[in-house]
Amino acid sequence: MGIIEKMRLDGKHIFVTGGARGIGKSVATAFAEAGADLAIVDVDIDEAEKTAKELADKTGRKVIAVKTDVTEPEQVDAMVEKVVSELGGLEAAFCNAGICINEPADEMTFEHWKKVIDINLTGVFLTATAAGKYMLNHGGGSIINTASMSGHIVNVPQPQCAYNASKAGVIMLTKSLAVEWAKKGVRVNCISPGYIGTELINNAPHLVPLIEQWNAMAPMGRLGKPEELQSVCVYLAGDTSSFTTGSDIVVDGAFTSF
Ligand code: NAD
Repeated sequence: MGIIEKMRLDGKHIFVTGGARGIGKSVATAFAEAGADLAIVDVDIDEAEKTAKELADKTGRKVIAVKTDVTEPEQVDAMVEKVVSELGGLEAAFCNAGICINEPADEMTFEHWKKVIDINLTGVFLTATAAGKYMLNHGGGSIINTASMSGHIVNVPQPQCAYNASKAGVIMLTKSLAVEWAKKGVRVNCISPGYIGTELINNAPHLVPLIEQWNAMAPMGRLGKPEELQSVCVYLAGDTSSFTTGSDIVVDGAFTSF
């Protein structure tokens, strides 16, 4: 079998949090195209159902939608149970749901701080450990978390201390789980995207005017596209990445390289 065939995800069952749109939807599309059955997990169930139907129609794979708030432990545990019973297993998980709130630190409310940390960091802890607990007892698996270049650098000019701290936390959480589970067959990696043109940016009227400024700072002179994160996630989810664990793969067009 050639390397491209070995990278396929046939027979794998994967959940994608924040899968209704943006990066999650794009990576979910690639997982299904590579042969996996999927659960689109999102707090926005209407959008998740639309995405699940679109991907099932497009790829012929089984794709279900599961309403879950990743900050709620009972909902996350119930989601994993549903995914396993409806899809038939869980060999990979993309813990990707996240939000950004841009506020100066001295004006940031406790509620906003807590919301960002709860969704971006605690949500990844809950979903990755719920997936891991299943995988540890069922033949192993691969977990991919979404961090950000904001876990490496302080983005400017917009203030976002909670977001930056949450993403730095995701990177160390990823490495901690990878080390704990390294001998037990569960691999854990994260991706750190640079600016990617999704609703996270396009639906935020205060961010859209900054795109030109970011592009001027970016070595490649542009934002990334969600589909430019697909291949690295297919690689991490599949069996050819068997020695890759504890890695943080930066996909940012060299934004953090200087
Ligand atoms: P997006 O806003 O387009 O999509 C996020 C999805 O997460 C939405 O479908 C939303 O409903 C879902 N979600 C939000 N809160 C949730 C919750 N509590 N439970 C379950 N689902 C929830 O954002 P995106 O740009 O696709 O971002 C996806 C991930 O990538 C996030 O973790 C984000 O921080 C990260 N990221 C984005 C960029 C970027 O420039 N867009 C860069 C680096 C990292």
